[in-house]
Amino acid sequence: MRKKVIAGNWKMNKVLSEANGFVEEVVIKVPKSDNVEAIVCAPFPYLASLVEKSKGSDVKISAQNMHFEDNGAFTGEVSPVMLKDIGVTHVVLGHSERREYFAETDETVNKKTHAAFNHGLTPIVCVGETLEQREANETMNHVGDQVKNALEGLSNEQVAETIIAYEPIWAIGTGKTASSEDANEVCSHIRNVVKEVSTVETAEKVVIQYGGSVKPANIEELLTQSDIDGALVGGASLEAESFLQLVEAGT
Ligand code: 13P
Repeated sequence: MRKKVIAGNWKMNKVLSEANGFVEEVVIKVPKSDNVEAIVCAPFPYLASLVEKSKGSDVKISAQNMHFEDNGAFTGEVSPVMLKDIGVTHVVLGHSERREYFAETDETVNKKTHAAFNHGLTPIVCVGETLEQREANETMNHVGDQVKNALEGLSNEQVAETIIAYEPIWAIGTGKTASSEDANEVCSHIRNVVKEVSTVETAEKVVIQYGGSVKPANIEELLTQSDIDGALVGGASLEAESFLQLVEAGT
């Protein structure tokens, strides 16, 4: 059985004291369970401090982005080497906000996915369609292409360890969640695409999250679906109590 993976993506929120306080509370209260993994995706300046605070606990700390090169003349960028060195375990790649505002493309996501594995980081690869694409019945093709492009050139072992987050753009921060059946339909399609590019065994291992207005009130139903193995949560992950409820739902 696949583990449930609940990741809180804070996006560009919180100051250091709030970030530290959140993780101090969560490491004490996080449910002890082999069935669920809790990940906090924090802004770069807080990562080292949060890794320290989460040491010895079941809470993992993730970055929200990174560059694909190890080092060099890339002013303002952060490399996989740096993240690994401070004890970060995961990195969110290709979030729709980065694709929309920061020129992230399938090609750079693929380079970053390789870079993550080259440095022992687990990538959380985000895919998802716009409302226009959904209305034009392009969801499956678009999401399928994003998945194939992100995974291009990875070994089956690496594909099996990749976390894929299906986040329909029209459901992010809007309060509109995809129905659990609609979300599951796309997550099942993603698993089939993984099967096509790797093996049946690999596809059975891949963790596929849903993201988009997930909250304590709707997570349980989403997690009952056959191909939804967790959630990538924005707004409802900002308060420790709400984040803990989401993790609890995965146990
Ligand atoms: P919300 O949960 O705020 O809709 O954000 C989803 C998201 O983009 C997580 O990465």
